[in-house]
Amino acid sequence: MRVAVVGAGLGGLLAAANLLERGYKVDVFEKLPFNGGRFTNFHYKGYEISTGALHMIPHGSKGPLAKMLRKVGAKVEIVDSKPNGTALYRGEEIKVSKKTFPLKSRLKFALYCLKNVFREVKLSELEKNLDEFSAKFLRAFLGWSLSLTPSQLSLSDVYPIYEATYTLGGPGIPIGGCKAVVDALLEVMESYDCRVKREKVRAIRMESYGLSLHFRNTSERFDAVVSDAGPVETYRLAGLNVPKLEESRGIKYSIALKEPLIDHTGVMFTLDTRRICGVNQVTNADPNLGERHFLMAHQPMITSNVKFEIAEGLKDLKEILKGYEYEVLVIQSFSDGWPVNRARAGRDCSNETPVKGLYMVGDGAKGEDIEVDGIAIGIERVVKEIEKEVEKR
Ligand SMILES: Cc1cc2nc3c(=O)[nH]c(=O)nc-3n(C[C@H](O)[C@H](O)[C@H](O)COP(=O)(O)OP(=O)(O)OC[C@H]3O[C@@H](n4cnc5c(N)ncnc54)[C@H](O)[C@@H]3O)c2cc1C
Repeated sequence: MRVAVVGAGLGGLLAAANLLERGYKVDVFEKLPFNGGRFTNFHYKGYEISTGALHMIPHGSKGPLAKMLRKVGAKVEIVDSKPNGTALYRGEEIKVSKKTFPLKSRLKFALYCLKNVFREVKLSELEKNLDEFSAKFLRAFLGWSLSLTPSQLSLSDVYPIYEATYTLGGPGIPIGGCKAVVDALLEVMESYDCRVKREKVRAIRMESYGLSLHFRNTSERFDAVVSDAGPVETYRLAGLNVPKLEESRGIKYSIALKEPLIDHTGVMFTLDTRRICGVNQVTNADPNLGERHFLMAHQPMITSNVKFEIAEGLKDLKEILKGYEYEVLVIQSFSDGWPVNRARAGRDCSNETPVKGLYMVGDGAKGEDIEVDGIAIGIERVVKEIEKEVEKR
């Protein structure tokens, strides 16, 4: 069985390592000059600036990604966050646990869950009924983790994520940042003699014998194709009607700090801000990620005016970092085909496509969890589907 993987983002590399481990012959094609897509880092001014992710794995060493990395033999050390999160509220940093939220708001949340788990009632309805701290925390949490606001989400969109967080716990930081995960997967692939090929896939066609991939001047035959290019690009390549997906957009700030702002490895959610929803100081988990203290801040894009959004974010940073000596190293905005998430939370596409033998993995085709942990769940499904196909032959 010969399988092609389109794209060497985290989804593509993880899928490739899984398929190789199960004995398939795999070819990976990537159009960019580097691997890892939105989950790798570049060294800049002494700091490991990530191409996308905030150097965090949503459920740390206990989540589906960590489990899958161990299974394929990818060696990555993950530092689980301790505590999972704190909140900066009225100038004070508060440790967040269940008890931080007033009992009345907790009861309202439970009631809202019971009433609306299968209904399309927006979280803004819940937000209205909460005390100020809980409402602001809800907004910051959704903005940080999903780049969305309560009015864009209903409980059914986020319930699987809430459940997974409750059972598996909060985030972790891989030693070496996102790139360490990518490098470990490339090493696994190399042990099977599989290296990424620098080729842009221009079309995917269904043929009598299976599928063919088309490049600038050549084409190759495969039994199955796993695409990490996202639903829109995958459907376009296959000549299908492109699905309408609403991406979530955001802005990320990489900041060098002379003195530390926080003393832990978790996220500090910022509750009294215009845009910035939280910060993490990744050098607390891995000092080699920066020459000094390395802080990352994230905000959703509320309007489509990038300049305005950045101006609002920078005002927030000025307030959060009042009295600190800092340098904003890089500001990255994520939208228009290179977003935070290709599909809004809870709206990912199926891993299967209308074309037999063509599957999708990665962002936009995640399983019932968040970000790279959701990607791992989707890949597990695709590998099972391919195995079923092989058994039928
Ligand atoms: C600001 C920000 C913060 C985030 N924070 C986190 C976080 O802390 N933790 C977390 O888990 N997730 C986070 N995410 C999300 C995470 O980065 C993504 O879910 C993940 O990187 C997506 O991986 P992917 O492989 O699905 O897609 P991509 O990384 O987009 O990879 C797709 C690859 O396919 C290639 N490709 C596309 N078309 C073709 C073609 N025709 N031919 C060949 N190659 C092609 C692309 O060049 C790319 O390399 C964040 C994202 C952003 C933007």
